[in-house]
Amino acid sequence: CGIVGAVSNRNIVPILVQGLQRLEYRGYDSCGVAVHAGGLKRARSTSRVAELLDQVATDHIEGTTGIAHTRWATHGVPAVHNAHPHFSHGPGDSAESRGGRIALVHNGIIENYIELRSALQARGYVFASQTDTEVIAHLVDSLYDGDLFDAVKSAVKQLHGAYAIAVFCKDEPHRVIGARAGSPLILGVGKEGGENFLASDAMALAGVTDQIVYLEEGDLVDLQLGRYWIVDKSNKSVTRPVKTVLAHS
Ligand code: GLU
Repeated sequence: CGIVGAVSNRNIVPILVQGLQRLEYRGYDSCGVAVHAGGLKRARSTSRVAELLDQVATDHIEGTTGIAHTRWATHGVPAVHNAHPHFSHGPGDSAESRGGRIALVHNGIIENYIELRSALQARGYVFASQTDTEVIAHLVDSLYDGDLFDAVKSAVKQLHGAYAIAVFCKDEPHRVIGARAGSPLILGVGKEGGENFLASDAMALAGVTDQIVYLEEGDLVDLQLGRYWIVDKSNKSVTRPVKTVLAHS
C-alpha cells in the first residue's frame, strides 16, 4: 500500500514513521519500519501508525538507513508476522535467530510467488509469513554476492506481477535499492547532508523535500548518501528530471 525509504546521516526513523502517517489516508491493515542498526532492526504493528511510533520509542529503534510500509493485505491475513518489512535469512537459519540480512517492503502482487517459494524452500529458505512479498526478500538474498543493486536487478527479472519495492542489506549500511513495475515509486532528493528518499507518493515526503524524481516503469534506483543512480528497464543508466512539487502541510 504505502512505502517510505531513506538513506541519511541522521536518525531517520521519525521521518519514516511520519511518512507513513501522511499515507494513512489511503487505508491499511498493518504497518512496520526497519532500520540498519549494526544488524537489522524492526517494529511492526496491526494497529495505527501511532502505535508503531510508541514501539519504536520503547524498543529504541534508531538508524540512518531504513524502510517503512503500510500494508493492505492481498496474500496472508493481516497479522504482525505478515506485516512488512520482511527479512531474509540464509538457508537453514531459523526465522528470528540470526537477525536477517535483507530487509524489504513491497506494494503490489507477485503472481508467481508459489513457484518462487517452492524453489527457495528447496534451497533451504524458511518462510515466516504467508505473503507473496517474503519470496522477494529471500530471492534477493539468494542472489546476493556483495552488491545489493545487482542482486535486486537479477531478482526482479524473475518476478511476474506488479510491484514497487524498497530494499536494504545488513552488509551495505548506507544504501537502499528501489524498483518499480506496475506500482508507483518516487525518489526524493534530500536537502540536508546528502540524504535521499524513496516513497510510493510524494505526499509521504511533504515537509522533508519537495525535489521529486518520478521513476518510470521498469526503473531501478540505487540510493546512497549524496548520490543516486537510476537504471531503466533496458539496463541503461538514465537521468530523470527533478521536479519541484508544491509542499503540502
Ligand atoms: N501483496 C503484499 C502483501 O499482501 C503487499 C500488499 C500491499 O500492497 O500493501 O503483503
